[in-house]
Formats: sequence, structure tokens, C-alpha cells
Amino acid sequence: MAIIVQKFGGTSLQSTERIAAIRDRILLEREKGSQLVVVVSAMGDSTNRLLSLAKELTNRPDPRDMDLLLATGEQVSCSLLSLALKEKGADAVALTGPQAGIQTEHAYGKARITKIATRPIQEQLDAGKIVVVAGFQGTAGEGEICTLGRGGSDTTAAALAAELGAERCDIFTDVDGVYSADPRSVRGAIKYSCMDYDCLLAMAAAGASVIHPRAVLHARSHDVPLHVRSSFHTDQGTRIERLAPGLTAPGVTGITGQKGLTLLRMTGDIDLRKLRETLAEAHVTWSGIAAAKPDAYAIIMKEEEIYETMNRINRKKETLGIHTVTQEPGKALVHLVCGSEDQKKKQANLIRTSPLFQAKEAETADCHPEAWSAVLPEKNLDAWMQQLHDRFLLKQDNQHPVAYG
Ligand code: ADP
Ligand code: ASP
Ligand code: MG
Repeated sequence: MAIIVQKFGGTSLQSTERIAAIRDRILLEREKGSQLVVVVSAMGDSTNRLLSLAKELTNRPDPRDMDLLLATGEQVSCSLLSLALKEKGADAVALTGPQAGIQTEHAYGKARITKIATRPIQEQLDAGKIVVVAGFQGTAGEGEICTLGRGGSDTTAAALAAELGAERCDIFTDVDGVYSADPRSVRGAIKYSCMDYDCLLAMAAAGASVIHPRAVLHARSHDVPLHVRSSFHTDQGTRIERLAPGLTAPGVTGITGQKGLTLLRMTGDIDLRKLRETLAEAHVTWSGIAAAKPDAYAIIMKEEEIYETMNRINRKKETLGIHTVTQEPGKALVHLVCGSEDQKKKQANLIRTSPLFQAKEAETADCHPEAWSAVLPEKNLDAWMQQLHDRFLLKQDNQHPVAYG
């Protein structure tokens, strides 16, 4: 019997009414005859609420305690959904990430999944149960709870789908698919009916929060089709699979933005290899190198990563060859994401001469192989995203044969 994995995000689980609505939808899918694994996020914005509770008590939270705390959000959702399913007579079982066999590396707050022991889930499926798994978490070493980073329930779902050999993985969310830019902030964003894994991966890696990039990697590794769709209605969303090269969208495929960043400007005779190693040791999840020059360097990263990064840099300042470091908070990145590195090269002239890359307030950054990126003041991001979208997506000459629907 085919296995289908369905993931429901926080907005789809905002209240018990929403949980009941999802329960009914799951039961309809079940009637079609598949074995079902359902992965859930924390209810509504409960992860943010847990984070602010911790913040009321400390500015320097212990990462282990934080993971224990944050993992509870998803556990609430999976137990409530299992209760709701049983209330309608369905046979269901709720599992935490560790109970579902999800093993991770030992890295609080940003762990990668290293292995999934599929037996616990497979046994429950074979016993006829709907398996409801708490997303965003797994276990490292001797039962340590580690979370997978913000948006990590997508990763749980895609990784389970890959390891269980699922027929497809549905990602239910509060938008009806993947768009050329966040439809909540860019007017006229265009919905994709179908996309290649690599194209979505490039957008997700550059900050399109509709799906976690690691989820796309897991799905791609086992060719599991993803379907990003609305949890509020049954219309088709965006199907993501391996497309023939001729069918992938040419040119710029999306505009993404990231806020809440700080630019670290450094001077000195900087050893870039060692600097990169130091950033990797600090597990900095994201960093782009902007405006590289021999005696001046700038890196950009999430504000919450600055404290740990500065600690490491200060300890090794001499070995790294750094003379001075200055911090510029309140920055954002905008990315023009292309379908491939090749497409990126083809767009070079058009992009370099565009107003953004000529603007005084913007600095070119080298962040992703498939994207043209610039650092900007955070307050100007939304306006630039709109302008760039109008210019590069709405006025693009080339047609997107399969991609747009
Ligand atoms: P969930 O709780 O279901 O995981 P998320 O908030 O993580 O939902 O992701 C869905 C959100 O992603 C949408 O509400 C939308 O604002 C945002 N988003 C960002 N970029 C895109 C994009 N390119 N296409 C669609 N949605 C996007
Ligand atoms: N609850 C976590 C978050 O808010 C994980 C997820 O939603 O995927 O980031
Ligand atoms: Mg999400």
C-alpha cells in the first residue's frame, strides 16, 4: 500500500477548530486507501510564544534547555490531532520525533537529521494506524532532544517521506503554493503550478520561507514529489519534482528577502580560509561575504548569531589577521534567484545595470551560487523587492512554459 506523508504548518493548526478541520481532511485522504504519516508543527505562533517566555527570564538562554522547551510545541499539536482522530473512530498514534526514530546530529537549535530508524513508524502503519509525528525534532546521542531550526517540520516530513519511500509529500500551509516572491509582501507575485527541485531549493536557500531548504534536499535525494498547497481549500498548489532541463523556468525565477541581519565589517590582512572555518565552528547557519577587498571584508549574518560569532572572532583575532571589526545592524539582503548558475551568468548584464545594483544604499553580496544578492538597509527591503519583481518577473520577455500556472 502506498504511503503518503502530509505536513501541516502552524497556521493550519491555530485552534482546536482548525485541528478538527484538518482531522476531517486527513480522514478523506485515508478513505482513498493510502497509509498516512502526518507531521505537525506547533500550533499558531506558539514557538514564538515559547521563545518570548524564555526571553522574559534570560538574554543568554542555554541551548539545551531551549530545545527541550521548543520541542514541546509540536508535541502539543501531535497529541491533540491524535485525540481528534480517535474521537472520530480512527486508529491513530502520536509520536514525538525521537519515538518516531528520528536521529540527529548533536547541535541544539539547528541539528540535521542523520538517520531515521523507520521500524517504529512502519510497524504502526502495518497495524493500520494513522501515524502523527511531532515535527522539528529528533534525538542525538543518549536521548538528547535537538530541534532542526525554524521551519524544521518541513524537513521532518520530507525526510520521513524519503526514508519510507512515500508516494508523495504534501506540505499544507497558509498560501496556495510557491510564488515568484512572498505573495504577502509583493503585489503581483506569480504562482508556480510546477517546479524543479533545484529551482525551489535555490529560492528556499535564499530565504523563501514557504519551505525549509533541507526539506527540498531530502525530497530530491529520493525523488519524492512535493506538493505545496493550502490547508484551507482543496485547489492544486505547486508540484515540485525533477523536471527535464527544457521545462524549467529560465531567467530570474524569484525574488527573496531576509531581514534582521547585521553586517560585520573587518579590516586587516584577513585569512579567509581560517575565517570560514571559524564561522563553521560557530555553526553560523547563514553568512554571506559582501564587498570583498584584500584588506577589508564584510560578512553578514542573522542578528542572533552575532554574539557567538564575535566571541569566536575576538578569541582568534590575531590568527585570523583581523585588525578591526565594526557592526552594522538593521540590514537586509535581497536576492534575485535564478534557476541555475548558468542562468545567473546569462542575467549578469541585465542585473548589474539595474537600478538596485547602481544604488548607493546597496552593496553587492556573494551569497548563493544561483542568486544575485545585495545588502540594503532593512527599511528599504520591501520597496526594492516590489521594484525588482516588477522589473525582472513581470517584464521578463521569456515565457515560462510549464512553470507558471
Ligand atoms: P507554515 O506555518 O505552514 O510552515 P510558514 O509561515 O513557514 O508556514 O510558510 C508560509 C509562508 O511563507 C507564507 O505565509 C508566505 O508569507 C511565505 N512565503 C515566503 N516566500 C514565499 C514564496 N515565494 N511563495 C509562497 N509563500 C512564501
Ligand atoms: N514550530 C517551528 C517553528 O515555528 C517549526 C516549524 O514550524 O516548522 O519554526
Ligand atoms: Mg514553515
